Amino acid sequence: MNERPAFEPALVQEVATLLARAQRIAFITGAGISAESGLPTYRGVGGLYNDMTIDEGLPIEDILSGDTFRRDPALTWKYLFEIERACRGARPNAAHAIIADLQHRHEVCVITQNVDGFHVEAGSRDVIEIHGRLRELLCTQCGKRRSHRHFDAMDLPPRCMACGGILRPDVVLFGEMLPLRAVARYELALQRGFDLVFAIGTTAGFPYIYEPVATSARAGVPTIEINPDLTPLSSLVAYRFASGAGAALRAITAPDA
Ligand code: NAD
Ligand code: ZN
Repeated sequence: MNERPAFEPALVQEVATLLARAQRIAFITGAGISAESGLPTYRGVGGLYNDMTIDEGLPIEDILSGDTFRRDPALTWKYLFEIERACRGARPNAAHAIIADLQHRHEVCVITQNVDGFHVEAGSRDVIEIHGRLRELLCTQCGKRRSHRHFDAMDLPPRCMACGGILRPDVVLFGEMLPLRAVARYELALQRGFDLVFAIGTTAGFPYIYEPVATSARAGVPTIEINPDLTPLSSLVAYRFASGAGAALRAITAPDA
């Protein structure tokens, strides 16, 4: 493909060899892996919250917090609805598909901060969605769940058809705890360990994202970062692809193409 970035051939070969030999691989992903699906990242260039007009005069972290949701669910919902609308119509991209395909030859565990559900949609089976999933709604009163393909026009806050309780997306709002079941799976996955760790499209702002990469790197487990920009992980990892997710994964999985 002629738009392929010019990666160092030795870098590609080395990582391709590590990949071919690896049994258990972790893909730790963030908003950047979905950027090529047209989803805005969190901050930085094209960041979702940079462009969003916050007319309530509050930082977005406050609006999208558990506290605000309890006090004024309609306000939090107004922005959740906007976020969902920004994602509408987007689909998983080549990077999600390549990761899903690797599970036919390796044991693959995906740990993602993304709430878009794209890894599962692309077919990955072992996916830990540590921040939940936006289109999975949950009644705050009776606990009933419902998956949505997208949010239709709805009165905000939306209410449960069964009990009239306020619905919320099954995501971790700012200031909230991580979901226990996902944390248990995450801990188990780390205990079992990996022999190759990828960090793709994340600024690794959370310790539970940063630490597994840092710990692996310290333990001599090969670590690879794919990100066009530098992050706190960049100086720790053994290998770095300064590019988009799709281009680097295509090069690594088909080094002679
Ligand atoms: P982030 O926005 O802090 O960082 C995104 C990173 O992706 C940046 O380092 C950027 O350089 C990189 N990037 C941009 N384009 C890329 C590409 N084509 N390929 C590879 N990397 C690319 O994202 P984060 O670290 O995931 O933290 C964001 C938080 O916001 C998380 O809590 C997440 O739950 C939430 N969020 C989720 C989504 C989603 O579900 N798709 C989108 C935005 C934000
Ligand atoms: Zn209910």
